Amino acid sequence: LLGDDGNLGITIFEEITALAGRYEAINLGQGFPDEDGPADIRNAARKAILAGANQYAPGMGLPVLREAIAEHQERFYGLTPDPETEVMVTTGATEGIAATLLALTGPGDEVLTFEPFYDSYGAMIGLSGATHTTAPLLAPDFLPDLDALEAAFTDRTRVVLVNNPHNPTGTVFPLPVLQRIVDLAVKHDAVIVTDEVYEHLTFGPQHIPVATLPGAAERTITLSSAGKTFSLTGWKIGWLTGPAELVAAVRTVKSFLTYSSGAPFQAAIAGGLRMDDSFFAEAAGTLRAKRNVLSTGLRAAGLDVFQPQGTYFVVADVAPLGIDDATDLSRRLPGLVGVAAIPVAPFCHPEGAERTKTLLRFAFCKRFDVLQEAAERIARLGE
Ligand code: PMP
Ligand code: GLN
Repeated sequence: LLGDDGNLGITIFEEITALAGRYEAINLGQGFPDEDGPADIRNAARKAILAGANQYAPGMGLPVLREAIAEHQERFYGLTPDPETEVMVTTGATEGIAATLLALTGPGDEVLTFEPFYDSYGAMIGLSGATHTTAPLLAPDFLPDLDALEAAFTDRTRVVLVNNPHNPTGTVFPLPVLQRIVDLAVKHDAVIVTDEVYEHLTFGPQHIPVATLPGAAERTITLSSAGKTFSLTGWKIGWLTGPAELVAAVRTVKSFLTYSSGAPFQAAIAGGLRMDDSFFAEAAGTLRAKRNVLSTGLRAAGLDVFQPQGTYFVVADVAPLGIDDATDLSRRLPGLVGVAAIPVAPFCHPEGAERTKTLLRFAFCKRFDVLQEAAERIARLGE
């Protein structure tokens, strides 16, 4: 967790966002939208504040939100978690990840993730004292090699941590891959922790929650968050669902991390989760069009683009521009052309970092004109 200089590290997202600010660059680094989520949800939070929802919420979350989460799971996936015991609200999915790993793993355990992996997984596995093992997602489709996945499981694998749709690659895992993960988890008696914060942001393939697969529900904790679905990343309202005894264990840790999460935002997000199907479909449709604009622009600028099927992000290779180090480029890009992007290598251990050395991740959760302008600026790199 220490940076090269021995100081406590900051995340790559913070570092690049600070650089973007310094150069007034278009920030396609950290994944946050430049337009706020639905006015109805924001108004509901304002009303909740004025109506006095300003003291601690229950540790498990406001009942109205837990019920809305359970209803949402049933409406979209046919899952029926008990809002009393099988649903817990967290301070963003980030707290869900932290509390789950601290509750379920410790020294001597292995936690298996795919690689590249979201940065907080590595940090929290480290804090829990467990060992972090990985199975690679390889270009061009960033799907796991199932034999390598099988080989990565051992009898010490306590948790397999899945992220689907996947940040940073935008991969949406197909059913056979998910079923293999479940079968291997059953074989090794591992808990499946699945981070599905981009569940509604897919551009073709339907999102399949791991928990819907045969054999999965009784060993799966599913994490999600309002941040991405509702373009409200600053609210930090997330949740998790799973078997009561696993949720109870995670709750114990949450009690001492934050105890409870922002009360007025919880009531507002309950309303968001109850919005019509058309809201969720439109959010994905708009984002798909944005993906297309940025992908086309990046290709025109000479980068090799790996078309994502979900999330906020597109990964592109800068090697065709004659550039061999995307991390170095990401530090210079804001000053060079006024655009910020995140290198993929920090989402990897050293071997994976070498493999992904020339890959950059661009966020397309931005206005169309901003994406167009960013693509034009990036084209100057090749000139
Ligand atoms: N998991 C993944 C894969 C993410 O990309 C993010 C943030 N974008 C999070 C978790 C964190 O979510 P939250 O902001 O709700 O804490
Ligand atoms: N999840 C966001 C991303 O992947 C960033 C969140 C953060 O800054 N930790 O860009």
